[in-house]
Amino acid sequence: MDGYAVRCSDINTASQNKPVKLKLIGEIQAGNLSNDTVNKDEALQIMTGAAMPKGADSVVRIEDTEQCDGIVSIFKSCKHQANVRFKGEDIQLGDRVLAGGITARPSEIGMLATAGYQEIEVYKQATVSVLATGNELTEPGETLETDKIINSNSFSIAAQIIESGAIAQILPIAKDNEDDLSKKITLALQSDIAIIAGGVSAGKYDYVKDVLDTLGCEMKFWRVMIKPGFPIAFGLMPKNHARQTLVFALPGNPVSCMVTFYQFIRPALCKMQGMTQLFLPQLETILDETISIPPGRKHYARAITEFKKGEYHSTLTGAQGSGILTSMVLANSFLILPETGGEFKAGSKMQVQLLPGTSPHQLAL
Ligand code: AMP
Ligand code: MG
Repeated sequence: MDGYAVRCSDINTASQNKPVKLKLIGEIQAGNLSNDTVNKDEALQIMTGAAMPKGADSVVRIEDTEQCDGIVSIFKSCKHQANVRFKGEDIQLGDRVLAGGITARPSEIGMLATAGYQEIEVYKQATVSVLATGNELTEPGETLETDKIINSNSFSIAAQIIESGAIAQILPIAKDNEDDLSKKITLALQSDIAIIAGGVSAGKYDYVKDVLDTLGCEMKFWRVMIKPGFPIAFGLMPKNHARQTLVFALPGNPVSCMVTFYQFIRPALCKMQGMTQLFLPQLETILDETISIPPGRKHYARAITEFKKGEYHSTLTGAQGSGILTSMVLANSFLILPETGGEFKAGSKMQVQLLPGTSPHQLAL
């Protein structure tokens, strides 16, 4: 604190009407050491950031003083050690400053610097290619002809990749034919992870799986009993190789893409990049509306979760179709409806996953 370093016992009686007068013996600037010792009834002018001189135990703010002809009048008493910062107040010798397996936010970066690190070991960012497929696709900004739709998947997925700490590369749209798919999937396979969106369902022109097979990809699974996202496929490329590209083929519906990314690809990316928390944080919530689903598939319903009176409450965002991207825009969470299906009544307890950027703490504010 800018002020005077004193012995607090000297100024016990100080008040606005009856200031205590101390002898000024010098000053210390931040960054300088003082050789002076503050003895009884003496004060040393001190600036914020300067080391405490010998003898003094407290600092009186400059605002509570007046200086004239080598005498400092102190108008306020102070507590012992007032306005003094101690070594080890924040971190002590032997303390663990940060845990491993986390993403360094600006606060962690500052903490690393304050602990004196010039360099630390980090995990390499994964590289991820995104390939949208479909003859019907047009890029945003291009003329939208009749019977075409705008490619949104490349961009939502690229943003999810970046949100997961990795590096995204968007490839030009692939047509629904084996030649073009083969050429562009080959480019995608140069990354740590290749994401192919669309063309993995049961349509006549859904060639993605065939092309992956021809290229030598070892398919590990196709179709998962979830909604949305059922047609997802996963494989390793090339087969039996030391360094393999993880290949995820996602169904093309915009919500299916985003949901399967969060359930399958984000955990893989977190793992590859050394993080310890792989899955979206999950908590118990109270359903604020009654929802019915048929049995068979686990649903990831888009929901708004809020903290009210000590409990989490969730409602759906509205229409839940896999093409209703608004459901993602409005959501801060995925409500998990188990594959048993049935009617989940308002008031029942359910599990909800929080989307990145939503923390339980924030919801509680
Ligand atoms: P698919 O999985 O290829 O059968 O596509 C399923 C649905 O998602 C179709 O209605 C597609 O037109 C749509 N779709 C596919 N790819 C994209 C994309 N990149 N952006 C937006 N919609 C898409
Ligand atoms: Mg398609």
